Amino acid sequence: MRYTSTRDNSVRVDSATAIARGISPDGGLYVPEEIPQYDYRALCQTVKADYRDRAIDILSRFLTDFTADELRECVYAAYTDKFGADDEVAPVVSANDNKYILELWHGPTSAFKDMALQLLPHLLTRSVKKTGSGKETVILVATSGDTGKAALEGFSDVPGTRIIVFYPEDGVSNIQKLQMTTQLGENVSVCAVRGNFDDAQTGVKRIFTDPALIDELAAHNMAFSSANSINWGRLVPQIVYYINSYLELMENGEMDYEDEPFNIVIPTGNFGNILAAYYAKLMGLPVKKLICASNANNVLTDFLRTGVYDRNRTFHTTISPSMDILISSNLERLLYHMSGCDCNAVRNWMEQLKTTGRYDVGADMTRQLGEVFWAGCCDDAQTKQEIRAMFEAEGYLCDTHTAVGLNVYRQYVEATGDTTPTVIASTASPFKFAPSVLGSLTELDPQRNEFDIISELSVISGCAVPTPLAELSGKPVRFTNVCNPDEMADMVRRLLF
Ligand SMILES: *Cc1c(COP(=O)(O)O)cnc(C)c1O
Repeated sequence: MRYTSTRDNSVRVDSATAIARGISPDGGLYVPEEIPQYDYRALCQTVKADYRDRAIDILSRFLTDFTADELRECVYAAYTDKFGADDEVAPVVSANDNKYILELWHGPTSAFKDMALQLLPHLLTRSVKKTGSGKETVILVATSGDTGKAALEGFSDVPGTRIIVFYPEDGVSNIQKLQMTTQLGENVSVCAVRGNFDDAQTGVKRIFTDPALIDELAAHNMAFSSANSINWGRLVPQIVYYINSYLELMENGEMDYEDEPFNIVIPTGNFGNILAAYYAKLMGLPVKKLICASNANNVLTDFLRTGVYDRNRTFHTTISPSMDILISSNLERLLYHMSGCDCNAVRNWMEQLKTTGRYDVGADMTRQLGEVFWAGCCDDAQTKQEIRAMFEAEGYLCDTHTAVGLNVYRQYVEATGDTTPTVIASTASPFKFAPSVLGSLTELDPQRNEFDIISELSVISGCAVPTPLAELSGKPVRFTNVCNPDEMADMVRRLLF
């Protein structure tokens, strides 16, 4: 299978090149030239496959330049007992009214990013070998919290790699900061930036294209790469758990007949996780509606309803911070596929986004979007109310991002009357956003210690605190670097050379 660019159809590379580079030199994103059709029925009926087997099978359809042995090594190295027993890699929990919660946070950092970032380092190091550069890979990450920790954990002590994570000094939670600054590993570095997430992100993008720094790296036999969700190697592992969730529902007799359609609800920011579900649908998974759930930063809700993407709006800081984003990079891939691989149209839209902050995909495409997607949003008050309602009605404690999904699903059922079985992607453990979660259930003293709050949540819910979070309070802080946005390149030099 070959990959092309969303902005230039003449590009043709193999998957190793797409993964090693991260982004196409023309600025576009790598997309598969064709979508493999996946016969999940045959697999379900003939093999009692576990999550890893299914992952190997699905990855092999997309990463055709990897051998079966290589994929097996990668998958087995990624989904270890860090995720618990195998049936706990991505468990599907049955809830009331035909709802199923797909828990994607059983990995080492308690958010769904682990599902891809535990695998990506293995795919990336093999990709770099295959493309023959022989260079050490330097991963740069700007994070609003979850990606940074998941990437650190994934790349920690992976031979042939170094990783540097920049986070906004005052833009992450205490727990997220501790998770990053206590990270173990000889090849990892963490640095706070005096600024917001956009400052950190802009700084990293500038470094990626800084010719002087690229030359200095080359002189040390190093090259930059990216671990954020524009990398194809992060998207393809996410396709697996949607297909797996349907197979689980079939196996457990939750589906009445073969090919019974289901809905999937995904709380989204960068449009990465929901795009993976769209690929699963294109592969033949019987998805009726993909339901896109946003917080107060509802640029995607408006886009999917009207066909107009307009980022010229107020940025809101919410209690679901991993979805506080106004430029959803992965939407570009959806536009490419939906426009019939029209790279010229995509390039124009992205150019308009850059210059005016807005583009309009027109009536025809808007109708097509409406056939596949339903979109909704909710604010912080509704999010908190949903956490409380779910806990009181069903005894299920969810995090703030998952609650956005549950609330938008409630709106969907009210608007459409559709009671089709529905899988809701749960993207983080409630313990990861403990103050907001406990604050939804009871009045909370803002001065209270975060580990205290975590313990109380455990008592209230009867659920154990994930071990890596529980152990954080005793861990020594290893990284105290802080810099201004314009000092980030020098910080990279100091940390690397
Ligand atoms: C990253 C993240 C999201 C958003 O995922 P996208 O792929 O960017 O849409 C949602 N919830 C949590 C907890 C996250 O960490």
